[in-house]
Amino acid sequence: MDPSTTGGGRRGLTAAAVPDLVAAARDGRSRAVGRLLSLVEDESPLLPEVMRTLAPHVGHARIIGLTGAPGVGKSTSTNALVAELRRRGDRVAVLAVDPSSPFSGGALLGDRIRMSDHATDSGVFIRSMAARGHLGGLSWATPQAMRVLDGAGFDVVLVETVGVGQSEVEVAGHADSTVVLLAPGMGDGIQAAKAGILEIGDLYVVNKADRDGASKVRRDLRSMLALAERPDQAWRPPVLMTTAASGDGVAAVVDALAEHRDWLTATGELERRRVRRVRDEIEALALGALRRRWEAVGSDGRLDRLARAVVAGESDPYAAADSLLPDA
Ligand code: GDP
Repeated sequence: MDPSTTGGGRRGLTAAAVPDLVAAARDGRSRAVGRLLSLVEDESPLLPEVMRTLAPHVGHARIIGLTGAPGVGKSTSTNALVAELRRRGDRVAVLAVDPSSPFSGGALLGDRIRMSDHATDSGVFIRSMAARGHLGGLSWATPQAMRVLDGAGFDVVLVETVGVGQSEVEVAGHADSTVVLLAPGMGDGIQAAKAGILEIGDLYVVNKADRDGASKVRRDLRSMLALAERPDQAWRPPVLMTTAASGDGVAAVVDALAEHRDWLTATGELERRRVRRVRDEIEALALGALRRRWEAVGSDGRLDRLARAVVAGESDPYAAADSLLPDA
């Protein structure tokens, strides 16, 4: 069976077909990339095989996080960034993560609208992913999906997340570089401070520079960022302005991302961030596995028996919990 064909095959996929599927994805076949991402979304039992096959190929992509409140212009900016990155010869994957959406599978309307600019370009892959419903939510599914896209050979993986509190912070944890997007007329700097985004941005972009108030947002943001204490050699996040709708200022954002990348590499911070990220990934996988075991314990009555023993004074909660843990 050609692993890149669609329909009917997802469930029938076997471990033996995984290397062909990965090879097809690395050849730039979007359907194969899409099928690998579906395995992530489905929490497929084939994932360990997929990750093992991808392992020698990961670590090449620049992972860029883009976050901001709804309406600031994330989709528009993503589109413009993709166009600029393509101009520079990069293969680009976009992962749009919506922590609140129950939908998945790349069929969201927004996808198709955005896709239309890049629809005929095989160097661009765009996919929406719903994080809800996964064990561990964002922390489980996003790194797996990023690993797939990295291993598939994309030069840049852009992870776009709707800014809803915790998810922004999580995206920053997953990315090499995090771009925080703001716009005038949206609560501006005050909201920025509240949401805690002043700590997570490597780059701040005030979009809708064509609108009144954009310069004030930049001024406010700059003075707030200036209050943060940073060691001498630390990265100082620039505050840029764009009009994503026309593409104005977007090339400067890509330049600043390249500068941040150079800084990350020169200081060893890239390696530190990646190790931190994979630690979280391993932890999320281990906790997921543990939780599944506990569910089994819950369903076979063992947890009830332990609880009854504690209630009866024959055991205590610590000893009971210990007896559930593996010896690792
Ligand atoms: P998202 O919700 O953050 O993804 O924001 P969208 O990209 O969907 O943009 C929200 C609205 O702002 C849309 O109506 C866009 O057309 C508009 N928009 C995006 N960028 C700009 C810009 O640079 N200037 C202006 N005036 N409007 C923009």
